[in-house]
This record gives sequence, C-alpha cells and structure tokens, in this order.
Amino acid sequence: MRGISISEYSNPDQLRVSELDTPKREPKTLLVETIAAGVNFIDTYQRQGLPGYQKPLPLILGLEGSGRVIQSDPDSSFSVGDVIAWPFHPESYAEVVAIPESKAITVPEGVDPKVAAAVMLQGLTAHYLVNSTFEIKPNSKALVHAGSGGVGRLLIQMIKNAGGVVIATASTEQKRERLGALGCDYAIPYEQFHKTVREITDNAGVDVVYDGVGNDTYMQSLASLRKRGLLALFGASSGAVPPMDLQILNSMGSLFLTRPTLADYIATREEYEKRASDIFRDISEKRLIVEIGGEYPFENASQAHIDLQSRKTSGKLLLVP
Ligand code: NDP
Repeated sequence: MRGISISEYSNPDQLRVSELDTPKREPKTLLVETIAAGVNFIDTYQRQGLPGYQKPLPLILGLEGSGRVIQSDPDSSFSVGDVIAWPFHPESYAEVVAIPESKAITVPEGVDPKVAAAVMLQGLTAHYLVNSTFEIKPNSKALVHAGSGGVGRLLIQMIKNAGGVVIATASTEQKRERLGALGCDYAIPYEQFHKTVREITDNAGVDVVYDGVGNDTYMQSLASLRKRGLLALFGASSGAVPPMDLQILNSMGSLFLTRPTLADYIATREEYEKRASDIFRDISEKRLIVEIGGEYPFENASQAHIDLQSRKTSGKLLLVP
C-alpha cells in the first residue's frame, strides 16, 4: 500500500509517497481503506520534530481521516463496508489504516465521508472549546483568531449557533470578506487587534479569546479580555508561547488562562460520541458548513504542508490516496 512516511524530521519538500507494509489488524481493530486524510497544523509540528511532538522514526504522518471498513472482528459492531471516521490516530496518511474500534465513529448517511474526515480534529476541537472550555451562551462575546482557518471557521459558526457575538481576526482583506457568510459579526486584521476589540466592546473586552495562533497574539489576546475573562490558548500556528509570569493575570483583570487539548475532552466514549453526533447532525441540517480548502493527491502532500504553513489557505485541506 502507498503512504507518506518520514525517516527524518524534514522540510515539506521531503514528503514522498512510498510503498509501505499494509498494517496488521489486531483484535478490536478495524482495517480501513482510506477515503481522505485530514491535514492539520500538528502534522507540520510532527514533520519538523518540534519539541513535544517528536515520535519514533520512521513515521507515517497523519492523525485523522475517513474510510471504508475492509476487515473487522466477527462480533464487531462495525461491519465490512461501513464508512467510519477517526480523530487522533497516527499513520493516517496511508491507503490502509488500522483503527482501534474505540476511536472509530460511524459516518451517518447524509454526511460526505470527506467532510467527516475534515471535521474530526478541527470540528471536535471547536465543539469542546465552545461547549466545555468556555460555554458560549446567548450574547457571550468571543474573539476567534485565524477565523478563516480550519478550526476558526467552525468556531465562528458554533458560536453563532449558540447565540454568541463573534469578532474574528484574519490576515487579508480577502479572507476577512468571506467571514460574513459564516455569520461573523466583526472581521478584523491582527494589527493592534486588542484596541479594535476594546472599540467594538465599548472598552469592556470580550468574555473569551480562542487563540490558536500563540506566540504572535497571546499578549494582545489577554489585553482583549474583560475582567475575569478566559484565554483559551489551544494552538501555536505562529510558534509556542514562551514561559510567562502568571502575575500578569492578576494585573490584567483577574484573568483565566487554559491550554486545552482535544484528547482530554474526548477521554470517554460517551463524550466522544456526543460531540461527533452533534457535529454530524449540524452538518446534515446545514447549520455547520464545512469548507474544503483543497484536496491534494498523496503525491502532492508536500504542497499541502507548504500551503498550510504559508497562510494561503482557507478551510480544510485533505489528502486523497
Ligand atoms: P488553520 O487552518 O487555522 O491554519 C493556521 C492559520 O493560522 C493560518 O491560515 C493563518 O491564518 C493563521 N496564522 C497566524 N499567524 C500565523 C503564522 N505566523 N504562521 C502560520 N499561520 C498563522 O490551522 P488549523 O485549523 O489546522 O489549526 C489551528 C490551530 O489549532 C493550530 O495551532 C493547531 O495546532 C491547533 N489545534 C489545537 C487542537 C487542540 O486540541 N489544542 C486540536 C486541533 C488543532 P490567517 O493568515 O488568516 O491569520
């Protein structure tokens, strides 16, 4: 089978398709023919071997996807032919993947399997941020960074569906213009965004900032919060936030700061299924529009990584075998 494996931490242009051994199926595991694998920022961290993201080499990249079951246990609740999706399973940039049943979720009819692949990591992340890390209620005011990105677009829609008010940053006029269609109330540039947020909120600040950009934004994000507001720092697209003096949380208005990760918010099967079924329902009912920003054949995986890191993209990038 074909897959994308790295034998050393590398630049994107070293990503190559190669012939790999088909994975062996263990009990309680499904062998799945991949329909699409999602491309995520974390894949670029793993490819580069950034601190905290190093895995034993050689490594098949990819952490999510969807596909059709080609082998399962005779007593499994999944059957050959079922379409499933999965988040957080390594080696997903491959034609055939072995997925533990505990990580598999059935893709309902009415949801395109490629769209299902697109929302596993990013959709579940947006869901826990908006429903659990800081629960958006009617009129909650939120600032979302990288609003036209994969997680950003979903965050905006989920906040609006919950009745909140959204201010979102995006780097270009073209990206900002497109956010209105998602219901975004204010699309703003990054430059001095804390001042813009103060102007929009009559100097009060927002209740929550969802910040996946990290190093370039976190200080202004803190400065955009109302008293006792929460910074949910969930990513580091511009680089990791350096060690900081927690006293600033006191002086900036008794602020809260959290650094959440998806695995802790889908730690039980019940929680995982609830989040996934909410997302699939909203997709079927067209309350959640998932934009596929690009479909790349495996041979062009390097271009997908280059595009994601170069900030050219909008929406979700997929690799297709
Ligand atoms: P995006 O599609 O949002 O792509 C990243 C975007 O970040 C870019 O398009 C760009 O948008 C913006 N950006 C701002 N500054 C920079 C910079 N210096 N370099 C590159 N991009 C920059 O990616 P994802 O939706 O896949 O992921 C968003 C974040 O969420 C990532 O940091 C990722 O690691 C994190 N994440 C965290 C999870 C968790 O549970 N904690 C789970 C899943 C993802 P623009 O040009 O408009 O600003």
